[in-house]
Amino acid sequence: MENNILTGFTGDYHTHTYMSDGSSSAEQNVLEAISKGLKEIAITDHGFGNPKRFAMTEEKFDEQRKQLEILRAEHGDKITIYHGIEADLIGEDGTIDLSEKQMAELDVLVMGFHSFAKPKSFRDWRRIYWNAYLRAIKYPPKSVIARNTKALIRAIKRYPIDILAHPGHLFKVDCVEVAKAAGDYGVLMELNAKHFNYSHELFEKMLTTSANFVVNSDAHFYKLVGGFSQIEQFLSQHSFDPSRIVNLGGRPAFKKK
Ligand SMILES: [Zn+2]
Ligand SMILES: [Zn+2]
Repeated sequence: MENNILTGFTGDYHTHTYMSDGSSSAEQNVLEAISKGLKEIAITDHGFGNPKRFAMTEEKFDEQRKQLEILRAEHGDKITIYHGIEADLIGEDGTIDLSEKQMAELDVLVMGFHSFAKPKSFRDWRRIYWNAYLRAIKYPPKSVIARNTKALIRAIKRYPIDILAHPGHLFKVDCVEVAKAAGDYGVLMELNAKHFNYSHELFEKMLTTSANFVVNSDAHFYKLVGGFSQIEQFLSQHSFDPSRIVNLGGRPAFKKK
C-alpha cells in the first residue's frame, strides 16, 4: 500500500543562512518557503561552538533575531518563523555546545554530530570524532557504533532537543536504538534531504519504535528550502500513519515554545 502524500508538507525546520555556512539571507529562505506553499520555517544556523570561519556569535544571533522580527512583521500572516540553532554533540557524555542562556533564547533546538565542531576534550576527539573523520570506514566496528549511540542518547536525555539532525551521517549510530530513545523523550528523528542515508529496511525498523519524524531540507542555499521530492519519493514506498511525519499536513510542537 502506498501513502497518499497529497496533504503536502507544512514546514521546513532546518535551514541555514550566511550567518553560518549558508549562502543566502533569512529573508531569501523565508520568501522561498512562502513561494513553495510552506506555512512554517525555522532558521537554524550552526551553533556557537563551530570554527571561526562560520561561527555563530552571540552578536550575530541577536542580529538574526532582529532580522526575523522584521520578517515576522512583514510576512507573519503567511508563515510562522522560528529561530533556532543546529548545535553539536561534542562529548561522549552527551554534552552539546550550547549554554543554558543560549538554549533559553531558542524557539527550536536542532542537534547533530558535525566533524567540524570543537570536541569537549582531546579524549572526546579521539573517542568519537576520529572515527567520523575516517569517512572511508563505512562500517565501523560494533564497539564504535555502540559508543556513538550511547553518546547521542545521553544528549537526548540531557537537553530539550527538538530535532535530531541527520542521525547516522558520518557519525555512525544504531538508528533504531536512537529512535527508541527519541520516541521516549519526544525528540524528532530527521529525514534530512541534504544527507539522506536511510535504507528502506532501516526506515521500516525505525517505524516500529514510538519515534516521530520530520522532513527537513538542511538548505544552505535558499532555492533548496522545502526541496523534499527525493524524500517524498522514498516515503511513497512505505506504509505508515502520516501523522508520524509531523510536518506532513500537521505542525510540530517544539519544547521551547
Ligand atoms: Zn548538520
Ligand atoms: Zn544543517
